[in-house]
Amino acid sequence: MQNYKSTRGAVAVPASKALLYGIAPDGGLYVPSEFKRLDLEKIVRSSAIEIANTVLFSFIDDLTFEKIAECTKNAYTDRFETGDITPLKKAGECYFLELFRGPTAAFKDVALYVLPHLMAAARAKNGLEGELLILTATSGDTGKAALEAFKDVKGVRVLVFYPKDGVSAVQKAQMVTQRGSNVCVCAVEGNFDDAQRGVKQIFDKYEGERHFGCRKLRFSSANSINIGRLAPQVFYYFKAYADLVKSNEIGLGEKINFAVPTGNFGNILAGLYAKRMGLPIDTLICASNENNVLTDFIKTGVYDRRRELFVTVSPSMDILVSGNLERLLYMLCGDSETVRLRMSELASKGYYSIPRLELETLQSEFYGGFCTGMLAESEIKRVWEEDGYLMDTHTAAARKVYDDFKRERDNGLKTAILATASPFKFASTVLRALGGSGTDEFKQIDELSRLTGVPVPECLKNLSEKPVLHRDSIAVGEMESYTVKKAGESNWQ
Ligand SMILES: *Cc1c(COP(=O)(O)O)cnc(C)c1O
Repeated sequence: MQNYKSTRGAVAVPASKALLYGIAPDGGLYVPSEFKRLDLEKIVRSSAIEIANTVLFSFIDDLTFEKIAECTKNAYTDRFETGDITPLKKAGECYFLELFRGPTAAFKDVALYVLPHLMAAARAKNGLEGELLILTATSGDTGKAALEAFKDVKGVRVLVFYPKDGVSAVQKAQMVTQRGSNVCVCAVEGNFDDAQRGVKQIFDKYEGERHFGCRKLRFSSANSINIGRLAPQVFYYFKAYADLVKSNEIGLGEKINFAVPTGNFGNILAGLYAKRMGLPIDTLICASNENNVLTDFIKTGVYDRRRELFVTVSPSMDILVSGNLERLLYMLCGDSETVRLRMSELASKGYYSIPRLELETLQSEFYGGFCTGMLAESEIKRVWEEDGYLMDTHTAAARKVYDDFKRERDNGLKTAILATASPFKFASTVLRALGGSGTDEFKQIDELSRLTGVPVPECLKNLSEKPVLHRDSIAVGEMESYTVKKAGESNWQ
């Protein structure tokens, strides 16, 4: 049976509780007590949804397998563009694992669509009475995906905070036009880290089930720190591998690399989890943009957030404190006391370092690199012209860092790039990279399609014509009072 411990030492809880709580009471993140090895031979003979069920059940084993299967069925049936959820495309020497074929054209859909179903099942299992209020800080994509995934789900409400100037026009339009009686969206006058810190402080202060006015509810998280977000992400690493074996690109057991555009370190951490469960992964290539804290960390063992946060063409990676890294630290040192110490150093001094032995382990699993906006644009153009594949800005960073990896230490293995967003979500940059122009991001979406012949995803069509339903904007310091006020309201419409 899985037993989720906190990275900072709090008592362990079963999976369904870890799912409901999101974050541990001591501020730590829940980590599974074991990684069950999956039968690879069986995996490669399974369908996407069967793989998802197997992977999810190995993490969330206090729900029944049938319940998990019901959750994935509700989450994935007819919601994604292709029946196999995350198609794998070959272009040039690389494979692109397309994680953006879901309802909001971003990779976070894959995990977020199943999360409300898992939470509802966990809520029933634990006999919870009150509502759940999902609090989320978003750097752009999570917010929309969470809103869309949770809208009109019974017993759950969602409150999304986004950094006012830290998301693209399209991302903003997607969020502020969101319909649903249980959703609320609010801008914060600060950057993503401010918003994320604000949410974390609210979680720390309002733990457990509480009354707000006459309503009883519990705050919970849909951010990638929730184990219910992480577990579904492990699935598509296995699925990509199965696709490669099925199409005879690799033999069963052959090792491969994955290159991952990284922000909060959730997506790539899921890759490490997959590796621990027996997936033959050699190197996990961690790609950053100008906010290259992780590149430095992997190269030197020093995590130092004392630097300016740049707003870049790949906003979902504009992060200085990667939340999920705490789980990696815990895996490296295996000791919650040490994790607690480093996290308090990070908070008070702005940096921490890991000892040489841990650094060596880290470097044996990961390669870190970064890609500037300018290089990402030339990469978008090159890959479009040479390989006929259209990438978004985040995916382009990963593709570019893969090239750096190959130059530095080619291991001769096949590599899959995690394609995390539709190029149309970042149409203005992608269009500029291809030599197009214009300033209206919405028109640029159509122009990009005209220029390349690649169709616009359904969810990004006619965005500018939808009515704006959410106009609130607050200072960072107002996040708590705003949340408490909203929690007490009986009707959000
Ligand atoms: C969220 C996001 C990322 C970063 O993923 P993490 O799990 O936070 O590391 C990369 N690309 C896109 C498009 C995203 O939305």
